[in-house]
Amino acid sequence: MRARRGCRRPGIRADLSSPTRTCIGCQRSAGTDELVRMVRSQEGTVEFGRTLPGRGAWLCIATLSECAALALRRRAFERAFRGPVDHASVESAVHNAADSVRDPEQNARG
Ligand SMILES: [Zn+2]
Repeated sequence: MRARRGCRRPGIRADLSSPTRTCIGCQRSAGTDELVRMVRSQEGTVEFGRTLPGRGAWLCIATLSECAALALRRRAFERAFRGPVDHASVESAVHNAADSVRDPEQNARG
């Protein structure tokens, strides 16, 4: 009888510890804990939500309002979401994101 050799491959890459995303404002790559996620609803409004379904766009937490303004000016939201975006809703989404970053527990509903 032939003994089968275990063919486990060493060095399978499981480097999923810190996924990185690119900020659509300043184009900086950072870990998802340094960025906030924006998604577009079916109505074309932008909402802040790390766990909402759909296509996401990312902005730096540290320079959130600047990156959001940059992204608006460069139409990066339209590109990220592949469609028109309600710019007024971006401002309120940024506002919500800034609030929840400051008080993470307040965002624990839903
Ligand atoms: Zn940025």
